[in-house]
Amino acid sequence: MTTLAPSSTKRATRTFRTWLDALQADGRLDVVERTVDLRFELAAIAKRLDGRAVLFTSVAGHTMPVVCGIVSTRAMIADACGCAERDLAHRFAAAVAEPVAVTPVARADAPCKERVVLDGIDLTAMLPLPVHHEHDAGQYVTAGLFIVRDPVTRKQNVCIHRLQAIGPNRFGALILPRHTHHLQAAAERRGEALECAIVIGADPATLLASQASTPFGVDELEVAGALRGAPLPVVRCETVDIDVPADAEIVIEGRILPGVRAPEGPFGEFPKYYGPRSDKEVVEVSAITHRADPIFYDIVPAAMEHLLLGAIPREASLLESVRQTVPTVRDVRMSVGGTCRYHAVVQIEKRVEGQGKNAILAAFANSFDIKHVTVVDPDVDISDPSEVEWALATRFQGDRDLVLVTGAQGSKLDPSTDDGLGAKLGFDCTVPLDADAFRYLRVRIPGEDEVDPTTVARPRTGPPFAAPGEGAR
Ligand code: MN
Repeated sequence: MTTLAPSSTKRATRTFRTWLDALQADGRLDVVERTVDLRFELAAIAKRLDGRAVLFTSVAGHTMPVVCGIVSTRAMIADACGCAERDLAHRFAAAVAEPVAVTPVARADAPCKERVVLDGIDLTAMLPLPVHHEHDAGQYVTAGLFIVRDPVTRKQNVCIHRLQAIGPNRFGALILPRHTHHLQAAAERRGEALECAIVIGADPATLLASQASTPFGVDELEVAGALRGAPLPVVRCETVDIDVPADAEIVIEGRILPGVRAPEGPFGEFPKYYGPRSDKEVVEVSAITHRADPIFYDIVPAAMEHLLLGAIPREASLLESVRQTVPTVRDVRMSVGGTCRYHAVVQIEKRVEGQGKNAILAAFANSFDIKHVTVVDPDVDISDPSEVEWALATRFQGDRDLVLVTGAQGSKLDPSTDDGLGAKLGFDCTVPLDADAFRYLRVRIPGEDEVDPTTVARPRTGPPFAAPGEGAR
């Protein structure tokens, strides 16, 4: 069972704009006023300022400003969700467990409808689409919430797919074999297009909810409602039967064309390698609606924002998976060095010998992306990679505590796999329950924790120690 932490009663931020205002009020929003090029320069600056939100007010060839990095630290994401950082995974798991239905609002009350463009659509002329990495194939939408509807249940699905502008009104889309793909393949078998909407600039809780690892049929916008602590206001699109967040900055409406494929990629992805060029699904755009003065939102691939948006929903899902096997699991972390996808750290309070290895097996079962699992005791701070390495160095023996699985499904974006086929390793770094307590007693200096380094000492300014001329010979 997950329970809402007391801090989660804090109000989550309501819209993209209220979040930008909150960032500015806290001094976490930088502004770049000089004119920047969409080709590399914007991404280069945003990447160097990773961990800060950055607003580009002057983008060459466009009047629309661009913002990056709005949820580029765990602290930002926690604030946006109205909870403490340590409660994020629990908070997200609770939202997935109890979704909150959306609230339809009138068209007149939907800021995303202030402007409606149906004719003469030219994606790269209308929208400031950056080119991010050296060998990227072109200009991309990286932060579009891609919404489709199941025609049978009328439930919607939300995911983020990378979208390359490949024509005035066309995107090439990478649609991995998950929920969008399931609906698209079914539509294609019927010879039909699948309607879609691509939402840019939704509130951060909705952005995070789009990454939820949920069973097919769960509407991520309802997870967003739970995460926000209030139903998400939605409005019906102009040209497709899709409901979108009413407060969004920009909505691109379109259809995934049946039986049509076009080259997409390469594109620099989260593992800091390129996803390859290949024939992908094609989205034909039928309308763009937006606020009167829209702000474009871009996620720089492989930057902290990209990694963390994947990490928190995965941690929530992993926590629930491990809990089924090891009820005393305390916390989990998808580490940054493991691209927030491949390396899981699981902290358990071991009660029965062998639970360290059961936790490893549960983590492997949770997601095919997980490649290496490290299990530690509660005294190890899993937010600190040095602590985790210390546990590996001093509590692990390769012949006794290692779990190796060969020939399993892994991530195709991990270049060391054989097209996704690879090995899994688990490191059980828990101390044996029957171990001599003193042998594993962590050294401690009494009083150390009470010392305040900022007040106990100051830079020395007294007379020199050496005699005049000392050190000359
Ligand atoms: Mn889904």
